[in-house]
Amino acid sequence: MKHLAALNTYFWKYRNRFFIGIFFVVASNYFAVLAPQVTGFVVNQVQQRLPGARPAATKPVHDSLVNWFITTIQAGNFGFGWLVAICSLTILGLAILRGILMFFMRQTIIVMSRHIEFDQKNEIFQHYQQLDTQFYKTHSTGDLMNRMTEDVSRVRMYTGPAVMYLINLITLIGFCVVNMLRKDVQLTLLVLAPLPVLAITIYLVNSVINKKSEKIQGLLSDLTTNAQESFSGIRVIKSFVQEKAMLGFFQRNSESYKTNAVGLAKVEAIYFPSMALMIGLSTLVTIMVGGYQALEDSSKVGLIVEFVIYINMLTFPVSAIGWTASMIQRAAASQKRLNEFLQTKPTIANSAEKVTTPVAGDIHFNHVSFTYPHTGIQALQNCHLHIRKGEKILLLGRTGSGKSTLAQLLLRFYDPQEGSISIGGTDIRQIDLRTLREQISYVQQDIFLFSDTVSDNISFGLSSPATQETIEKAAGFSSVHKEILGFSKGYDTMIGERGVTLSGGQKQRISIARALIKEPEIIVFDDCLSAVDAKTENEIIGNLYRYLHDKTAIIITHRIFSSFPFDKIIVLENGELVEQGTHETLMAKNGYYAELFRLQLMENSPDKTES
Ligand code: ATP
Ligand code: MG
Repeated sequence: MKHLAALNTYFWKYRNRFFIGIFFVVASNYFAVLAPQVTGFVVNQVQQRLPGARPAATKPVHDSLVNWFITTIQAGNFGFGWLVAICSLTILGLAILRGILMFFMRQTIIVMSRHIEFDQKNEIFQHYQQLDTQFYKTHSTGDLMNRMTEDVSRVRMYTGPAVMYLINLITLIGFCVVNMLRKDVQLTLLVLAPLPVLAITIYLVNSVINKKSEKIQGLLSDLTTNAQESFSGIRVIKSFVQEKAMLGFFQRNSESYKTNAVGLAKVEAIYFPSMALMIGLSTLVTIMVGGYQALEDSSKVGLIVEFVIYINMLTFPVSAIGWTASMIQRAAASQKRLNEFLQTKPTIANSAEKVTTPVAGDIHFNHVSFTYPHTGIQALQNCHLHIRKGEKILLLGRTGSGKSTLAQLLLRFYDPQEGSISIGGTDIRQIDLRTLREQISYVQQDIFLFSDTVSDNISFGLSSPATQETIEKAAGFSSVHKEILGFSKGYDTMIGERGVTLSGGQKQRISIARALIKEPEIIVFDDCLSAVDAKTENEIIGNLYRYLHDKTAIIITHRIFSSFPFDKIIVLENGELVEQGTHETLMAKNGYYAELFRLQLMENSPDKTES
């Protein structure tokens, strides 16, 4: 339960709504308990007028407002018909008043819970964005989504309905019981005896329902994931002719969902009959005991009616004890899960004395070693590297040799366990993360574009809106401008799930344009021309040569771009820097680079293409 304390700041933020809400709850319940007393009074009046009626032995006790009402109408000396009519209208008026107050009670407390939900979602989203790559590698997207949607909804059930019902049931039970005790202590105790049993039964049934619902929720999420995967991979399913197998798999999942849902329906079926039984018992006791008492004292006839109404009024709050308790329990469990994430501190964070001046200058990798913490794979070993400002570097190496890791360390997606990286003589751990990343454009190997327009995707990294001209210029550099113009709505064409599907090469070039438009100091291209043809590749290389003239660039690739005069070529092998130098020195070394160069030369030779 202590986990819910995290929500107190929100309650405090919306304290005005909260306290006004409490006032409405109390007021609506106060007026609610007046109606049975007026009814009791009318019944007694009727009873007095029956033939052979005996005068009341005791005077019924009423609330002071009801007492005032009774003395006022008795002073008016109305006829019997008028008396009943006035009382009926008063009961109707009380019901309307209660309805209005209940409307405002919901308007304040439930609306407050929606505000809290909104704030909480924003807080979580903002926190998620601060967490580092490592966190995302160790938590599934499904889990993150679940916490932000499912858990927040459950917490809202606490800040809204549960809090409202709790205050409501405490005040309503309080008012009813106080009124009943004032009238007849013995009868009250007898009548209320079955109600705790009802509250406990409902709590227990609810716990079973919640457990079953949770299981069903899990099965439903499996079912959705299963269906979602099938639709995403529909081409694979069709090409491998696995439709029947997939259907069987879906049916099995669906079957267990159905079985559990049927089980839940059975348990839920106990709910209302058990409530009806307990209420029936209380009513029975009231009529029996009250009936005997009425033989002695005729004023007890009105009391029986009053008590029966109270019992009916208590049905809802007493059963609400059970499910409010379980709602709070579930919210506490959800808030615990949310707190877990909210209290996770990003391992990659700004240092206390962060440097916020733009980064520029030489890049140094000082004996850097890095092991992926969650897998224990050592991706880089003692890499020592010096890149001068403005140099163009070609980074080569077999697949899995650590090239992308090197780039990611430069952007501080991870921090190396040994060694350090500096730019312009400043350790990157001292540089403000935002400043660092703003100055480096990283074209990732696995491209991600947003389901948005082409121009919004290209200008994504800019803080101020880009002009059409700059967007087109960036697209021109990455040789994708003409193709974009060929789309139905040009730069306003939606891409991704909501729009056109781009080819691998088009995606790569749009992501290059997105990196170029930032005009960064340092630019890293991670194997981002792998899906374009040789002609376009040459065109882009030519453009880049012009674009990159004063920028530091690291181009990671599996192929050698012989048309680009690189200042330095670096070869990684199993995380180690095995070759570095110019084209000439590496050719003379006759290692991986020379071998790759010769192989590529052979592939491109006219003999080879003709054969
Ligand atoms: P490629 O040319 O195929 O892109 P690469 O040279 O870029 O390969 P890296 O992606 O840097 O290679 O990977 C280096 C090593 O680190 C590999 O053994 C890989 O399995 C491992 N690795 C890469 N990314 C992760 C990660 N996020 N978590 C754990 N291990 C990783
Ligand atoms: Mg890579």
